[in-house]
Amino acid sequence: MEEVKEEVKSVNFIEEIINDDLAQGKTDTIITRFPPEPNGYLHIGHAKSLCINFGMKEKYHGKCNLRYDDTNPSKEDIEYVNSIKEDIKWLGFEWDQELYASDYFDQMYQYAVDLIKKGLAYVCDYSAEEIKNTRGDLQHPGQESPWRNRSVEENLKLFEEMKDGKYADGEKVLRAKIDMASPNMNMRDPVIYRILRATHERTGDKWCIYPMYDFAHPIEDAIEGITHSICTLEFEDHRPLYDWVKINCGYTTGYPRQIEFARLGMKRTIMSKRYLKKLVETGKVDGWSDPRMPTLSGMRERGYPPKAIRNFCEAIGVSKANSEVDVAMLEHFVRDNLNLEANRVMVVKDPIKLTIANMAEDEVYEIEDNPNAEVKTTHKVTISKNIYIERDDFAVVPPPKYKRLVPGGTVRLKGSYILEYVSHSVDENGNVTEVVCNYIPETIQGQANAGMKVKGVIQWVNAKDCVDLVLHDFDYLLLDGEGDFDTRLTPDSHKVFANAKGEACLKDIKPYDRFQFMRIGYYSAVKTYGQNGKYEFNQITGLKDSYGK
Ligand code: ATP
Ligand code: MG
Repeated sequence: MEEVKEEVKSVNFIEEIINDDLAQGKTDTIITRFPPEPNGYLHIGHAKSLCINFGMKEKYHGKCNLRYDDTNPSKEDIEYVNSIKEDIKWLGFEWDQELYASDYFDQMYQYAVDLIKKGLAYVCDYSAEEIKNTRGDLQHPGQESPWRNRSVEENLKLFEEMKDGKYADGEKVLRAKIDMASPNMNMRDPVIYRILRATHERTGDKWCIYPMYDFAHPIEDAIEGITHSICTLEFEDHRPLYDWVKINCGYTTGYPRQIEFARLGMKRTIMSKRYLKKLVETGKVDGWSDPRMPTLSGMRERGYPPKAIRNFCEAIGVSKANSEVDVAMLEHFVRDNLNLEANRVMVVKDPIKLTIANMAEDEVYEIEDNPNAEVKTTHKVTISKNIYIERDDFAVVPPPKYKRLVPGGTVRLKGSYILEYVSHSVDENGNVTEVVCNYIPETIQGQANAGMKVKGVIQWVNAKDCVDLVLHDFDYLLLDGEGDFDTRLTPDSHKVFANAKGEACLKDIKPYDRFQFMRIGYYSAVKTYGQNGKYEFNQITGLKDSYGK
């Protein structure tokens, strides 16, 4: 019974549509596409779309193309084309074909000519402003353009002249001739070609006219044999136009078929590429891959495991209602993954010296890498007379319920002995500079506590062999609330701990290796880890899960 329930639950509304189509024999292969515009880096919202489109490929043993929607040359860049590929691969998806909308420009032009010949498109001399002003609104029909009834011959000639560069940008457009009184505003003679002089990344200066999204997209889908063209909800009202273009360009099988789902929104961050670009350009962040960015490359630098992102997308599911997901939910999946995968090591973020006065000989311990691992492994940790502990783990005047080291008190060193306070020294400002303790030999970890009651266990590192680390901690980019993003930037969302120290084993790790720093949080080695003798980590997330299930 349990299993059946699971099965039913895992079918989302897109899969229902596909299952119906398959059952009715409308198609026997499922082909989807992921169609990014190369005008920015992919963000977590795109991950949702990727998981849906590539998820259909995997589930139905179909295909999924990566198609760059490069019909807007003024905003596009090769840097984005490359980053998009890198991010998709990082998430673990494989596209079938890498395609570019611009490869179809000749065909699209031909389809436009065909529409003119059928009396279904005309050249209009209105400016963008005039088109807008004559569109009418939901209560009123639009006004027909005075150029609506140009002859086919005149339209063909003018459209060709548009292509040949005879007119200035914006001087003329090609519009579909549909219905200026349609209750659907998108059907009121939409613009399908515009004049734009901009050098295109791939076609150079061959074209000075470019197709609009609503005309180009169905054609791209149709040419590629896409069966289900999955897009976000704001295109629902565009579907009649999608179908109009498809049918009037001669694709009458019912496919491609557009299906809309709700876009992912997330609290305390922003998902529009335009805004993310602004953050980059105004230097509010350190590029698109800044670990605070909601971009996939930012999440990679931050140390998010790609599997955790996929699990998150799976869990939020596919729906028809827009909503904002709490970032805590994404972090929950990150933590879930790291709790199983990340090795535990000891790091001290803000160190103070601690001298174990009665320790004569160095010792070596085996510390468990990960209590949750299937195969248990350990690594060596050494201790000597001189160690570092966290400044917070010693308090001259302890706050209430403080369980760590205080004058006259005891504390256990993780994996080692119980220490007993001897003395401490302070500088002229009253800051503790050193703590002196004795260890109690019969209290080695794993042995009895020698009848002692010790509440606190603290991490430490050996001064003799520890590694100097720099830790980067992050807060959310935006403060909670609504309103203009510029006014909601979290102040100090990047904090640097430049004097941290870690276990010796951290010298021999690779960039992007992930750890749980005991009692501190999860951290990922930066891309340049170990270069020029610098050992830096980005904070992935804290240890506490604030996601209420
Ligand atoms: P943006 O507004 O951030 O520029 P976009 O929709 O213009 O986003 P595209 O590059 O055109 O970005 O998107 C590629 C695909 O990813 C599209 O199918 C789009 O619907 C989908 N997508 C983009 N943003 C989201 C989101 N927040 N949630 C789900 N899917 C998204
Ligand atoms: Mg877009």
